[in-house]
Amino acid sequence: MRHPRSRTTTTTLLRREAVAAIVPVAVAALLIAAGPATAAGPTGTSGVGDPYFPLAGNGGYHVTHYGLTLGYDPGSRHLTGTAVLTARATQRLTRFDLDFNGLKVTGLTVDHVKAAYKRDGQELVITPKRALRKGERFRVTVTYNGTPGPVTDPDGSLDGWIPTDDGAFVAGEPQGAMTWFPANNHPLDKSAYDFAITVPKDRVAVANGVLLGRRTANGKTTFRWRQTEPMAAYLATATVGKFQVKQYTTRDGLKVYDAVDPREATAAAPVLNKLPSVLEWESKLFGPYPFRAAGSIVDHAPNVGYALETQSRPVYDSAPDLSTLVHESAHQWFGDSVSLTSWKDIWLNEGFATYAEWLYAEQHGGDTAQKTFDALYARPATDGLWAFPPGDPGSGAHIFDTPVYARGAMTLHVLRTAVGDRAFLRILRAWAAQHRYGHGTTAQFERLAERESGKNVGPLLQTWLYGKGKPAKP
Ligand SMILES: [Zn+2]
Repeated sequence: MRHPRSRTTTTTLLRREAVAAIVPVAVAALLIAAGPATAAGPTGTSGVGDPYFPLAGNGGYHVTHYGLTLGYDPGSRHLTGTAVLTARATQRLTRFDLDFNGLKVTGLTVDHVKAAYKRDGQELVITPKRALRKGERFRVTVTYNGTPGPVTDPDGSLDGWIPTDDGAFVAGEPQGAMTWFPANNHPLDKSAYDFAITVPKDRVAVANGVLLGRRTANGKTTFRWRQTEPMAAYLATATVGKFQVKQYTTRDGLKVYDAVDPREATAAAPVLNKLPSVLEWESKLFGPYPFRAAGSIVDHAPNVGYALETQSRPVYDSAPDLSTLVHESAHQWFGDSVSLTSWKDIWLNEGFATYAEWLYAEQHGGDTAQKTFDALYARPATDGLWAFPPGDPGSGAHIFDTPVYARGAMTLHVLRTAVGDRAFLRILRAWAAQHRYGHGTTAQFERLAERESGKNVGPLLQTWLYGKGKPAKP
């Protein structure tokens, strides 16, 4: 997830101190469970049943691949797009939804046949000419254009397509993917992506995965990117700007692509240069790096206020410090490869990425995780850190608040203390391995922690994840 820079004192404090994958069948089952046929007929639901974002995602189908062809003119801020979604129906469908916010739809086909559609808020409701059979593969093509802008999240922050003075900062957590392409916009549905993004030739367009090629003609350059491993829609990016580009291959054979706004270049360089060693260190701790590409996008976007772990290549609103780079890199395992099934479980992303910062500091001459834990634990019971338990933020307005990050990380530290370092690292590695490219829930993590450690840590985790107020000293 994102790493808020400006919101909390905790962030400042932390920075200063600074398993069998859920198979597609299981995902399909969840989607089916979320999308029962209604009395009106077999229609896909308008959401996947997320309590915090009821309209996020859609029931009745699974998108296997997005092909996004985009053109962006930073001067006029006009976007043209064609999205080709390859999907599989998980039930009979006479009608289904995509999430799409704002932009004008100019054409829509299902399997190359014109389909009826209507807009209803963020729902693009599609009625194909003939019903889709359960299990049938189908292709939806949507052409669109307009002036994209971000959505305002329940906590007041912006996400989605955020224009900058030279392009756009594009980061979609939790809702913003639908501001620039029609999507099954929930992490429950993960897909492969291809991007072809055309921008004026003095700009660079950076998406996820591997750069397949770039071609300049008639004053414009088209960048083609491919993200092969499954990706949640919110982790897609198509950030545009005047960027300095650096490409290299690490000694492990990983392709790195860095794009940096020249205004941030001096501050960013020493931190970005550490990316290979950070990924190597994290690979030793968490298991093999999940993706075939890596890199960083460092934009100059002072109105954004956060960074996001966009898959394979995080996007930063300004030059990151080292602990932020460690945080977003750790998300590649925890959040990107292993995804949420519900936004309520957000601590599985943020608690883990924050704890990676603590571990990094501990092993690189900084404070021990114990010292960081103690400093936080010393806060009085009235402190915002204890406002709610990390396993139950209460609503989408609090999923990026301090308890999710700091008490989430404290929960992992309490677990580590209870089971010992060796068992703790075994748990982290097993989590990343067994749920690689899939999903994981808090309940699954608790069971795995007990299984791997052989200890009855469930009650301890319950207290730290769900207990109200400041837990007793462990
Ligand atoms: Zn994060």
